Amino acid sequence: KFIAFEGGEGTGKSTQAKLLAEYLHGRGIACRLTREPGGTEGAEAIRELLLHPPGEGWGPRAEALLFAAARSDHVEKLIRPAVQSGEWVISDRYLDSSRAYQGGAGGIGDDNVLALHDIGSDGLKPDLTILIDVPPQQVTSRLALRDGDNSDAIGGRSADYHADVTAAFREIAAKEPARFSIVNGEGSVDDVQSRVKAAIAPLFGE
Ligand code: C5P
Repeated sequence: KFIAFEGGEGTGKSTQAKLLAEYLHGRGIACRLTREPGGTEGAEAIRELLLHPPGEGWGPRAEALLFAAARSDHVEKLIRPAVQSGEWVISDRYLDSSRAYQGGAGGIGDDNVLALHDIGSDGLKPDLTILIDVPPQQVTSRLALRDGDNSDAIGGRSADYHADVTAAFREIAAKEPARFSIVNGEGSVDDVQSRVKAAIAPLFGE
């Protein structure tokens, strides 16, 4: 099985991805926790280029191509082989981040991001995508607490930008309701983890 966690920065998706991997290990399931951009040596090198761009930074098109290239390496070398060998893969971000950030907020368009994904990764989609959804106002205050003025986010991002990203994720999820589970990311880490466990129960046939 292949599960992706999606959502904006500060929604808690990385924490939840890690907790789910621990929970699955506890149930005796072999599982790989990975992340995007990154997950393989080549894709981690591209991550560095994306997070710390040389010169004046990438335009949205170049950014979309770099994300697609990183994902291609990740899918070919890690995700497909692991899933084929019967492991579960949990990825902290995947295709839908590109759809929301580069496609939606960056203005490239959903169809173009999907076309790049077809070329790069044969269109591989997760069995289940968990969208951790937190209202944008809360995201801004969580990020202020977490990062202060030292945010590592790509470019300095405004409250409006986070609102756009949240809206873009919701729209994408609405297009493919069968693949998505929208989990409310408000409340404690434990509260959210219970919701995540409920969301993955169908994968066990529960
Ligand atoms: O939240 P996380 O640490 O996973 O993301 C790292 C940075 O990469 C964030 O600033 C996020 O907005 C950005 N990103 C992006 N486009 C993607 C994936 C992540 O701009 N497709």
